[in-house]
Amino acid sequence: MTYRIQHLWSSLFVLTAVFALGGCGGSDPATTPGPPAQVDYTPASPRLVKQPLMDDLRVLSAPDMEGRKVGSAGNAKARALIVARFQQVELSSYGGSFEQPVIWRDSPCTNVIGYLPGSTNPGRTILFTAHYDHIGTRNGQVCPGADDNASGTASLLQLAAWLKAHPPAHTVVFCLFDGEESGLYGSQAFVAAPPSALPLASIDVVLNLDMIAQGTRGRIFVGGTSYTSVLKPHLLAAFAASKVQAIPDFETYDHASDQYPFMQKGIPFLFFCVGDDDPYYHTPQDTFESIPQGFYWATLEAILDTFLRLDVLAQLPLILPHAPSQSLRTEQRILNPHPWRHRMIMAEE
Ligand SMILES: [Zn+2]
Repeated sequence: MTYRIQHLWSSLFVLTAVFALGGCGGSDPATTPGPPAQVDYTPASPRLVKQPLMDDLRVLSAPDMEGRKVGSAGNAKARALIVARFQQVELSSYGGSFEQPVIWRDSPCTNVIGYLPGSTNPGRTILFTAHYDHIGTRNGQVCPGADDNASGTASLLQLAAWLKAHPPAHTVVFCLFDGEESGLYGSQAFVAAPPSALPLASIDVVLNLDMIAQGTRGRIFVGGTSYTSVLKPHLLAAFAASKVQAIPDFETYDHASDQYPFMQKGIPFLFFCVGDDDPYYHTPQDTFESIPQGFYWATLEAILDTFLRLDVLAQLPLILPHAPSQSLRTEQRILNPHPWRHRMIMAEE
């Protein structure tokens, strides 16, 4: 997540929380992590294997990745790992290469993008997104960025491998964005000029994973459901089977990660993030060793379940339309004013 925006909103959030809690003894979630190690988050019937996920998380947040700052040798090393895995899984690429160099605000970044063609609904697309860059060093110390965002990056590598073996109905694109910490540079460049074979109008929903591991309070915040409420029951059904609690309608940080450029284009999204529950945000303490592994594994498992529940909807475009229809109604459950508050969704009549 990008820190300038995050800290501004973090202050507002804490202020709001203080007012909301009054004298009831509430505490700042950022400073009072609970004991997640005492909870066994093991999924009842997991699809994903835990150890390969942890191995990727450890490698991506190792000291030799140097905090993966955009343009650095460590960033290039992480990117090489992602490309190698995409090749291993045999994802398809746009334009013959997984690496997509872009320039945003005069800053060069390199996104890594691969996809699996849909088996039954190839013309419609679901995007998994995560940024692989981080902030490098602070005061001479490496900030490993295990939660932010090696957690999302390792997740996409595991999801790609699993979905290769279990072909999805929709075309599924895996976008590892660069330059997120600079101000969403990679994702902004992507949305401004997507691959010609991937028009924005073909995207049904973006699933952005940014900081999904450091769940000190056993919960994951989910943005996007206030804007596209039809996604919420699928999300909640998936998490009902998990010991991880999903908190939907959490739109506080929607503009602080890579879903934001898509959101500005009116594309539905789900944004998964532990937010202020991560006490090690942008510090040298955001290490692999600090991650509650069971929570992380269980969260990704429930996110995969959420995806599968959306993927089996044969007519996902009907509930998340991009084209006008004769049968339209205004989405009612908009909580926040927003450029696409007038978005129309098709009524099921
Ligand atoms: Zn960040």
